[in-house]
Amino acid sequence: MSGKDAFYSSLQQNLETLKEQGLFKPERVLASRQGAEVQGADGRTLINMCANNYLGLSGEEATVQAAIAATEEFGYGLSSVRFICGTQTVHKRLEKAIADFLGTEDTILYAAAFDANGGVFEPLFDENDAIISDALNHASIIDGIRLCKAARFRYAHNDMDDLEKQLQAAADKRHKIIVTDGCFSMDGTIAQLDKIVALAEKYGALTMIDECHASGFMGKTGRGTHEHHNVLGKIDIITGTLGKALGGAMGGFTSGRKEVIEMLRQKSRPYLFSNSLAPSIAGASLAVLERLSRSTELRDRLHENTAYFRHHIEALGFTIKPGTHPVVPVMLFDAKIAQQFAARMYELGVLLSGFFYPVVPMGQARVRVQLSAAHTREQLDRVLAAFAQTGRELGVLKN
Ligand SMILES: *Cc1c(COP(=O)(O)O)cnc(C)c1O
Repeated sequence: MSGKDAFYSSLQQNLETLKEQGLFKPERVLASRQGAEVQGADGRTLINMCANNYLGLSGEEATVQAAIAATEEFGYGLSSVRFICGTQTVHKRLEKAIADFLGTEDTILYAAAFDANGGVFEPLFDENDAIISDALNHASIIDGIRLCKAARFRYAHNDMDDLEKQLQAAADKRHKIIVTDGCFSMDGTIAQLDKIVALAEKYGALTMIDECHASGFMGKTGRGTHEHHNVLGKIDIITGTLGKALGGAMGGFTSGRKEVIEMLRQKSRPYLFSNSLAPSIAGASLAVLERLSRSTELRDRLHENTAYFRHHIEALGFTIKPGTHPVVPVMLFDAKIAQQFAARMYELGVLLSGFFYPVVPMGQARVRVQLSAAHTREQLDRVLAAFAQTGRELGVLKN
């Protein structure tokens, strides 16, 4: 076998192994806009319970029209990075709008939150410094930390005693920063930012939160986890996405003090060496933020839907991870049952995803529901009825 053939045949083998282990991820193909209801490529209509479309804005006509208007005004794209000729007024306006929304001084845009996290550490910290990171932080945070020379400290997920131990272990480092997802997408856990900020103050550390599952709907006016925990203005660096609640296309940002953002514009590699965000996305995101600043209606409806669903799914006899976040893990514990459950729900017209080891710990298999402001009560009742039927069929109800 030639060297090249050996390469392709080993890839084929590794792909086969993934399939045998049940770790291969097929992609569901939609034939419609994203929304509370979607059309599958197979023509089926499904109630969608697995999008990050928390505010229902992804397929909404107002978002689409704002994107079209921005395209008309600013064109399709820039064919440039920001610092050469890729910055338009719409990018500057969006950066200011995000900073105002989050309560920070300035914001820098990226093509994705993955890039924001990938490019935030290396320009700001070096081998004299320490990054103290929650064990379950998002992959992009982990990768960003890997690209930086700072010493790495990891604290057990959401464990404030361990965080304090790690802060003590990092005591001799020059600058220290605590990094956490604001809200964790697997369990709907909300980081204890009040306690984290108190520990940061005690040990002279900075704080950073990744708000991908929070911006636009957590806190009483939707500013995020820092508003939820009453620490507005006390978080040093906030990263987030435009690809979830805030419109759902793509794009990310880092927000914080002026000098942080200015340094990132000078040194952050995914910003310097990657194309500008499309004007359609910048314009539509701006329209979304203006709307969310005017009214909390969507955020309020999302939380009403979440409370309704959490109450009724428990009343049916399912076990959920307790909390208030629109991510609702419905615990089935057994991997095979979680897979059968999601497949049966699909037959009944409900799209949701099953998670099992190694994505979640062994014995913690589940289906994950994500609520949206776009879901109607009638749709949620249909989803609950499908849960009840599937739960009875598979014998997983407590009552
Ligand atoms: C989705 C997500 C990201 C990546 O966001 P993109 O804008 O899609 O790259 C980063 N961090 C967290 C916590 C996320 O959930």
